[in-house]
Amino acid sequence: MSATVRALLRDDLRDFGGYKSARSEALTGSVWLNANESAWANPADAEGRLRRYPQPQPEALCARLAQLYGVAPAQLLVGRGSDEGIDLLVRAFCAPGRGRIVVAPPVFGMYAVCARLHGAAIVGVPLRDGDAGLCADLRAMGDAALGRAGEGQDASLLFLCSPGNPSGELLRLPDIAALAERLRGRCLVIVDEAYVEYADAPSATALLADHDNIAVLRTLSKAHALAAARVGCVLAAPALIEALRRCQAPYPLPQPVVEAALAALAPHALALTCSRMAAVREARARLADGLRASPGVKRVYPSAGNFLLARFADADAAFAALLAAGVVVRDMRAMPQLDDALRISVGSAEECRRVLAALGVARVEAAA
Ligand SMILES: *Cc1c(COP(=O)(O)O)cnc(C)c1O
Repeated sequence: MSATVRALLRDDLRDFGGYKSARSEALTGSVWLNANESAWANPADAEGRLRRYPQPQPEALCARLAQLYGVAPAQLLVGRGSDEGIDLLVRAFCAPGRGRIVVAPPVFGMYAVCARLHGAAIVGVPLRDGDAGLCADLRAMGDAALGRAGEGQDASLLFLCSPGNPSGELLRLPDIAALAERLRGRCLVIVDEAYVEYADAPSATALLADHDNIAVLRTLSKAHALAAARVGCVLAAPALIEALRRCQAPYPLPQPVVEAALAALAPHALALTCSRMAAVREARARLADGLRASPGVKRVYPSAGNFLLARFADADAAFAALLAAGVVVRDMRAMPQLDDALRISVGSAEECRRVLAALGVARVEAAA
């Protein structure tokens, strides 16, 4: 266990081994009778692909994902979407009923949901709305993470979302590095990169070598178009990954999902996926132009993701007009600072056209 993990892991989990599954022991044999599996395949499973428990961390998939993300397999934990990664981080590093996390609202809701379920306190350091967009204040977040002398403990986890959902903000790696340096040995900095493929920017994995208090979340749900498969990764120092693995339920990924993910990451599929990123960036720019040309739109924020956050003169009317045209967008009005905002995913060209038509932008081509 590294010094950082020793310092930050829950005290009561220091010598916790987790569940020892039949698949986690390094045994070899040709007759497997150690997991109470059925001796026969299910009649509906002709090839018997589903008869046995899957590998806890499927080796071929982990190797492929590690290669994709540019890390060693020991720096990667695969699970049921980044959502499971978030949950594991909270459970491993926040003392139940006592831990504290720092987030920058308005932001993706799962950080607070997991913290709440775990009895951890949530400290929100609001995004600042300025000329550059809705931006996280990393200095203020760092201040909020550090317990002051005599009063209170350090936060366990600080969540950054880059590109931000829903802000669209892309954080600079030197700024993330400086924050991690400031919190070294005291708090983990989690960088959620669910949308980084759309940003055409380097991943915070580049910082892992020098900062063992950084963990990066990646997912196949967005750019890889596998949301229903539920595959996501935590990337971090091997000691941190090992600590999370001990907290994870034994067989997170169903075998059909492992096979689907491997197929989606085969060279031909991956090349097509990557080629689509440029098209999404192009469509995002065109949709943003179209929205800015709409009389009811007050502001369209810059976005490094596959969505746009826009403020409307009458968000109620815009939401209703879109719905009436059969277009469902994300209503952000219940979120802090966003009571006039909608978030619109960048869809196909035809879908974007329908958004603009519903909002009364008649001449889409002219706007583009
Ligand atoms: C969509 C999204 C995810 C993805 O979660 P999965 O569980 O991997 O599907 C993670 N973080 C953010 C900010 C997201 O918007």
